[in-house]
Amino acid sequence: MAKKNTFYITTAIDYVNAKPHVGHAFEKTIADTLARYKRLQGKKVFFLTGVDENAQKNVQAAEKAGISVKEFVDKNTSFFLELCNKLNISQNDFIRTSAKEHAEVVQRLVTKMIDKGDIYRGDYEGLYCVGCETYYTEKDLVNGKCPEHNTEPELRKEAAYFFKLSKYKSKLLEIIPDYVTPESRANEVLTRVKEELNDICVSRKGATWGIDFPNDPDFKIWVWIDALINYISGLKEKEQEYWPADVHVIGKGINWFHSVIWPAILLSAEYELPKSLLVHGYLKNGDRKMSKSLGNVIDPLELLDKYPADVVRYSLLKCSVFEDSDYSEELLIKRNNEELANKLGNLVSRVSTLDERYGLEKTTPLDSKTTVSKVNDLMNNYEFDRALNEIFAFIDVCNEYIQNKKPWESEDKKVLYQLTNAIKDFTILLSPFIPETAEKIARIFNFEISLKTLESPIKITKIKKSEILFKKIETTQKPKMEEKSKIKEKSNNSIIEINEKGSMQESLAKSKEIIEGKIPYEDFAKIELRIGKILEVTDHPKADKLLVLTVDFAEGSPRTIVAGLKKQYKKEDLKGKKAVFVTNLEPANLRGVESNGMILAAVSADESQVVFIEPEKDIKEGSKLR
Ligand SMILES: [Zn+2]
Repeated sequence: MAKKNTFYITTAIDYVNAKPHVGHAFEKTIADTLARYKRLQGKKVFFLTGVDENAQKNVQAAEKAGISVKEFVDKNTSFFLELCNKLNISQNDFIRTSAKEHAEVVQRLVTKMIDKGDIYRGDYEGLYCVGCETYYTEKDLVNGKCPEHNTEPELRKEAAYFFKLSKYKSKLLEIIPDYVTPESRANEVLTRVKEELNDICVSRKGATWGIDFPNDPDFKIWVWIDALINYISGLKEKEQEYWPADVHVIGKGINWFHSVIWPAILLSAEYELPKSLLVHGYLKNGDRKMSKSLGNVIDPLELLDKYPADVVRYSLLKCSVFEDSDYSEELLIKRNNEELANKLGNLVSRVSTLDERYGLEKTTPLDSKTTVSKVNDLMNNYEFDRALNEIFAFIDVCNEYIQNKKPWESEDKKVLYQLTNAIKDFTILLSPFIPETAEKIARIFNFEISLKTLESPIKITKIKKSEILFKKIETTQKPKMEEKSKIKEKSNNSIIEINEKGSMQESLAKSKEIIEGKIPYEDFAKIELRIGKILEVTDHPKADKLLVLTVDFAEGSPRTIVAGLKKQYKKEDLKGKKAVFVTNLEPANLRGVESNGMILAAVSADESQVVFIEPEKDIKEGSKLR
């Protein structure tokens, strides 16, 4: 039998009772990255996302907003479409469950379940959470409240239709371990299924919004049955070609519905089962889950107005998929500045500049095979953050290589060829994660993003130097002055002098730790210290304690570094000198001048003396301290 070359991937369909939050952006981005990765591997991919418009809570939210339900869902759905658009999500279709075609498929499946005798009529009395659109038993509740919403469910009694979920217990116990990823989420539902699996109510009496129950218009179909079936109805005429789904990507809050109820519906309606369920964790801010009711939501549309899609995507994809992860705008900025701008952007800019100047000469490429195979394994395990770490480890290798080989001095075209080929390799690997940037890089170095290009050496072409790929994002956080004075109190000798208005809270905190002598060596090793040659010294235009230094680190072009040494040194005493600098700090804006490093100085205990550190013998600028 020929191996199936299609790949069908879905996200959960989102409730449209509110605007999207960053968790929606996270889920769509991981699904999109996987979809793009499979396309790169030559699979014929169908990627479905969309919205759940039939939920009862839309009715309540619309009433609150004072507009019709239709008007309400149309408006909110547009925000979800906008999110997909701005995030560069490559969905093949976007399903809205209020569509007529969806209702027809839902009724078809429910009719099959009725015909099979799996749905029966009875009375239901229970605790219902409108937020979840589900009945709970007492023991599901936490202190009498819904575990998801922290609200008290309402007591309801109504005539109802039931689905014989209990009938599928042994089959479910058999399929869940292979179906659900990660294992911890599979175990969670297995425990619950083993304990007790009751039949479930699948109708809503007298509801005005939703899909009619087949042959009984007094009832609507319970919204979860309706919502889950989107994975089939969304395929429309492509059902034959793509079903069963290869992976459903969902959040941990709806694990039960997808691990237990969905396969049971499919078993009852005699459909093939989806191959896997990827259950992701939540993004949180500090210790708390982000949610509208907690008021700590990051609006992804606002983020996407401020930052390029790839920066948002990258910052999200660096979060662990399985565990709950911290996420904030500060983290986005850090990931942009330290990784995208400093590592990836810098390398592309340096290599393309040198390529333009000196050209390329064919030789044995740098080996990227191990990286490619590791990334492949990690992607198949849905470990996107670790796959990115692997790719960036290779970028680190390239950055070290250029630093060691110094092609700006040697003019070595073979080294440039090796670096250019390496850029091709990691760019293709990065393309599912940051597709726009990958396209840009591919245009700079004239290659195509494909598996074939990944496997063959780069063709020698004329290359033009690139524009800046990632701008450094300035942080507005300023260190508190009292913290700074604390550092000075603790030190009885020299300290790493932080420029007086340095905006680098982190490095400040770090130097504080250094003084207290409590950090592991690896942390210290993160600080890059180099010898720089001071080429020029000018007065800072706006600050009377600051000097603006032009410092050469043999990097091709010199850096601008602001130093708080004006009281202690004359300009001519600094010019031409070599000194020790911290060279891997985020750029800091010091009263209108961007400083790209920091000069080190020793400060006496009474602060009367501040002297910079000169190397004992002459040594080439750019040399590292270690
Ligand atoms: Zn709830």
